[in-house]
Amino acid sequence: MTLRLTQLIGAHARPAKSEGWLDVHEPATGARYALCPDGDADDVAAAVEAAQAAFPAWSALPTSERAHWLHRLADALQSKLEDFAQAESRDAGKPLPLAREVEIPRAVANLRFFAAAATQFASESHHGQAGLNYTLRQPLGVVGCISPWNLPLYLFTWKIAPALAAGNCVVAKPSEVTPVTAWMLGELARDIGFPPGVLNIVQGLGPKVGQALVDHPGIKAISFTGSTAVGLRIAATCAASLKKVSLELGGKNPTLVFADAPRTGLIDQLARSAFQNSGQICLCGSRLLIERSAYADIRDELVARVKHLRLGDPLDAATQQGPLVSQAHYDKVLGHIELARAEGGSVLCGGHAAPPAGRCENGWFVAPTVIENLGPYTRTNTEEIFGPVVTLQPFDDEDEALAFANATPYGLAASIWTSDLRRAHRVAERLEAGIVWVNTWLERDLRTPFGGMKQSGLGREGGLDAMRFFTDSKNICINL
Ligand code: NAD
Repeated sequence: MTLRLTQLIGAHARPAKSEGWLDVHEPATGARYALCPDGDADDVAAAVEAAQAAFPAWSALPTSERAHWLHRLADALQSKLEDFAQAESRDAGKPLPLAREVEIPRAVANLRFFAAAATQFASESHHGQAGLNYTLRQPLGVVGCISPWNLPLYLFTWKIAPALAAGNCVVAKPSEVTPVTAWMLGELARDIGFPPGVLNIVQGLGPKVGQALVDHPGIKAISFTGSTAVGLRIAATCAASLKKVSLELGGKNPTLVFADAPRTGLIDQLARSAFQNSGQICLCGSRLLIERSAYADIRDELVARVKHLRLGDPLDAATQQGPLVSQAHYDKVLGHIELARAEGGSVLCGGHAAPPAGRCENGWFVAPTVIENLGPYTRTNTEEIFGPVVTLQPFDDEDEALAFANATPYGLAASIWTSDLRRAHRVAERLEAGIVWVNTWLERDLRTPFGGMKQSGLGREGGLDAMRFFTDSKNICINL
């Protein structure tokens, strides 16, 4: 039976209006398996009204009470972890172990982290220069959270948790491509009696529901994660009404490998950073820059490793790489591979569709692809592909490595692999990226600022940055 999702508006789970349904596909098979409400501006308006009604009571709760509700939601999610992992794997086509061991646990951690942050976020005070000053951090009111399809529940909770912890009420819009786990979380919230109207979830298309959220005068801030093209549009709309906005956008992240890189586990880490979740993580390293003296060795070892990545049914425990998320994205990635060939790139492995036989024969699978012989300013090396495609470029020295690394409009993340700690500091300082890893990748401390430079975004998420974004500061000066 086809699963039918609902909108969460106030206390109610509302079905779609009449014929207003969107198809939701299973990427591994290409088949439709669920229907998502095709929401509109009326749904957004109703959700904003419900959130406005809930705001006075929610924002007045002691922070310990708000923390309690976030912990209760985390407990409920933890108790259904396997159901959520199965659903995420099916909805987004990601290998089940990735959903079970990384992404759903991280969604639980997001809720718990910001539950703790709610109780630790303190007012600052200053005295001695001009009276006694203290700065209140007050919730904004009703805020909009818009999230993408690549890490569906992980990024959804990364936004709603700090917004709620800071005392706001939320109207959230998950991606229409992967709407299921956000809907399940809304159902859990209703089951545990989460205060109605505090968290509203409106499903539907970006240009309809997302745009209505950005346009709505009752929404005080927009926290958006997604493509740079949509982010630019949202920034322009928010500028017209001075709406606060946080943007986490695309990337074209460099991985800089020096000849003295510690070799133990290196190739596995390089392969993981390029191909985890089929390369559909904004932090994946899609351009591998390798010092020339080590280039041929590392290239050959990497290609041998990538050829052995097990592509298959995401529900199969042995699978290391699943499909791409949608037909449109699959077409886009294959188009980029063709472009790389046209630009003169040599495809060392992959480079083609690769549906496994059986249940997944109609799924959107692309073989993990390694390409060399393309310069730093080609389209392939400057445009985001967001798929299982990595390019290799040799460099001669640190300056050249940095020039290649910084040669894109993006500036989200980078990793540096070297045994020379002084060089690591030097290079990290000169990289145009909001996040730099040294001899590691995707290791995250949730207290640290998260976000990108250049076309990769505006503002930072994580820890106190997120709490600051979702609050306004008010300074009160008392003459003593
Ligand atoms: P997308 O921009 O197409 O969509 C993201 C969200 O915005 C979806 O919920 C979509 O429905 C909504 N949306 C679309 N048009 C809208 C509009 N006009 N107004 C308001 N909302 C609208 O992105 P995507 O394809 O879902 O996600 C992939 C992109 O996200 C990649 O570019 C990736 O790099 C980026 N991303 C960035 C980060 C980060 O932290 N920087 C993390 C994950 C993904």
